[in-house]
Amino acid sequence: MSLFAIDLSDEKPFKDEVLSLIERDEMESWSTQEILSWAVGKFGPRLTISASFGAPEGMILVDMLHRIDPETRVFVLDTGRLHPATYDLIDRVRDRYGKNVDVVFPNSADVEAMVRKNGMNFFYESLENRKRCCQIRKVQPMRRHLAGFDAYVTGLRRDQNLNRADTKKIMIDSANGGLVKLNPLADWTQERVMEYVGEHTVPINRLHREGYPSVGCEPCTRAVGAGDDPRSGRWWWENDDTKECGLHVQEESDGSGI
Ligand code: SF4
Repeated sequence: MSLFAIDLSDEKPFKDEVLSLIERDEMESWSTQEILSWAVGKFGPRLTISASFGAPEGMILVDMLHRIDPETRVFVLDTGRLHPATYDLIDRVRDRYGKNVDVVFPNSADVEAMVRKNGMNFFYESLENRKRCCQIRKVQPMRRHLAGFDAYVTGLRRDQNLNRADTKKIMIDSANGGLVKLNPLADWTQERVMEYVGEHTVPINRLHREGYPSVGCEPCTRAVGAGDDPRSGRWWWENDDTKECGLHVQEESDGSGI
């Protein structure tokens, strides 16, 4: 992406430093802790963690940032269709870290109108319907919540799927108002993720033990067999190249590029 296309407000005091870091690709050589410490120092309470509570990566970020600054906020999108195990994990994180998780809900009027018109499970019928549901239950609530921050941290990794292969450790999220988006685990492997979880007894979703590599909404996630592509359990009725919910699609300003 051209730096000149980046939508980062002139009023932001960190603008020049962030653009310079992106231009020089400098953060790619930083450790995860270096990135997180820099982010806490730079953004303070205007920084938040995006965690699904359905993947170990977000829990690792909660653990690491708790060690750097226990006040760092974390949010989860409650679509209304999550697994009970995911709600249990939200409470386990509260207990373990003494952290009030920001649980972000969709606009109730939008959900009511959507299901009244289409039924409860209309997302199985077409890709367009599935994108619509993800828009209402995930993309729009996230955009509304992030409006209160300058930067957020995600657990995206490059080897999770082809769509994430080019993920940089620092980006500008133009689909969410020009926020700074940090992906400090971008170069981590699955083995390194599970090593960290084991070493630090990080709480993770219990469904991982039952064959779920990642846990999304209950009707759209299922367990996978040994040796299967980890993403094959998400939106299993779709082709691989459509398997994004729109939260991490950079180029489409309406967030619908799922
Ligand atoms: Fe709707 Fe499924 Fe997307 Fe959840 S993952 S918001 S239930 S389509």
